[in-house]
Amino acid sequence: MSEQRTETLRRRTFAIISHPDAGKTTLTEKLLLFGGAIQMAGSVKGRKAARHATSDWMALEKERGISVTSSVMQFPYAGRIVNLLDTPGHADFGEDTYRVLTAVDSALMVIDVAKGVEERTIKLMEVCRLRDTPIMSFINKLDREGKEPIELLDEIESVLKIQCAPITWPIGMGKRLKGVVHLLTGEVHLYESGRNFTRQDSTIFASLDDPALEASIGAGMLRELREELELVEGASHPFDKAAYLAGRQTPVFFGSAVNNFGVQLLLDFFVEHAPSPKPRATTTREVQPTEEKLTGFVFKIQANMDPQHRDRVAFMRVCSGCFSAGMKAFHVRSGKEVKLANALTFMASDREIAAEAWPGDVIGIHNHGTISIGDTFTEGENLSFTGIPNFAPELFRRARLRDPLKMKQLQKGLAQLSEEGATQFFRPLMSNDLILGAVGSLQFDVVAYRLKDEYGVDAGFEQVGINTARWIRCDNPKKLEEFREKNAMNLALDAAGELVYLAPTRVNLQLTQERWPEVTFAATREHA
Ligand code: GDP
Repeated sequence: MSEQRTETLRRRTFAIISHPDAGKTTLTEKLLLFGGAIQMAGSVKGRKAARHATSDWMALEKERGISVTSSVMQFPYAGRIVNLLDTPGHADFGEDTYRVLTAVDSALMVIDVAKGVEERTIKLMEVCRLRDTPIMSFINKLDREGKEPIELLDEIESVLKIQCAPITWPIGMGKRLKGVVHLLTGEVHLYESGRNFTRQDSTIFASLDDPALEASIGAGMLRELREELELVEGASHPFDKAAYLAGRQTPVFFGSAVNNFGVQLLLDFFVEHAPSPKPRATTTREVQPTEEKLTGFVFKIQANMDPQHRDRVAFMRVCSGCFSAGMKAFHVRSGKEVKLANALTFMASDREIAAEAWPGDVIGIHNHGTISIGDTFTEGENLSFTGIPNFAPELFRRARLRDPLKMKQLQKGLAQLSEEGATQFFRPLMSNDLILGAVGSLQFDVVAYRLKDEYGVDAGFEQVGINTARWIRCDNPKKLEEFREKNAMNLALDAAGELVYLAPTRVNLQLTQERWPEVTFAATREHA
């Protein structure tokens, strides 16, 4: 097999989706630990190094808050290379989260056993569905009392409209938690609080029929378990890999992240069954990950690791070929060759200069604002990856400048900061207003602070009568022109010069849509 193929097939690139507090951070830590734990097995020296690395990473993480290192975490496990792309937890960074989901091949959904399916999970699931992203589920906090497992599966099926295939099943819950049964292997893993750090640490019985199991959990509990499993078998779906890969079925695991219980069973199954990098659509053709030439797209920009230099890191997901340090790539939007010097890779242990990266991997490219979200890099071919959405903001403010002489800097600052994707910048056709849209209100504070800090502009944001935005498309140029004339008061151009309808109210939007059936009002714009 070619190296290209081998490296591609062993990549697993995914993100964790969950409602805040379900346990995403805790689970991430445990997964990283397994990544390190496997690396150090059998070697004392390796063990020390890996431990050291993990604590370094956490120290860095604390120091920087939302840091570059935690944006992408790469670790080896069972012969695979796992890339875990972090999705920001704060609800105000929703758009970033959505775009990270365009850069993964699968997702892991964490659900709190007591709370079940929560609002943010529902939203994120909708996004995964846009690309039929395969999803595994981890029901967390089994060491606490929660909903009945069967009830939870029902809830996932009815609310999230996805079949459930339980892979592990809990034995008890809360204080009565005894372990989990692996429904495919029949193995029983006992829960021992504070242990269970690796497979070797757990007590494992080969099957429910193992006499030692009865001695361990008691005859009553074993009987209950057998009855329950019969029910489960009747009421749930068997694992169907094709259905999982098509995004129609989610394999479900039970455990407790904080106790590291049930996590390794999940990870083992994940690296075996989760998809390796898939072909990706572009403006001209589908790109196969096994192609020899490098392609990739930028799904995230993070600014100012060093505020003095207005430095940005563009996160590029490699889609085909191999990146090697110092190589040149074609930046399709600008039509320029760019040297990818000092690109970063993201090992869980450290931020490193990338030697090479394969499909599914992410590299960080330093730049000074020349790279935008959605940009494609190739080795010369003129194609652009599609499907990286810009979502309609839900909050709008008008920029108010305190020093009129700084108008130019203000425009520049708003335009540049909106390149990062967390905010969007609109210029109405009929006024000189500068309108900023965001998904969460925190963004306005961040932008005001950064305008001052990075552009020397003292600006504030004030309320404006805009409720929502829709990107306008129309195949009929005459109709479009007519629409533009009649609705000029509510139209604006976004940073890319696309026409946008800024609706003062939901009712206004609905009425306008009814009045102009030939016009499409899109809630997302794809980065061109
Ligand atoms: P996130 O907001 O989804 O990243 O959630 P965190 O990982 O920060 O977890 C939220 C809270 O739940 C923290 O206080 C964790 O210690 C706790 N937690 C996480 N996993 C478990 C678990 O398995 N059992 C219990 N009892 N608490 C947990």
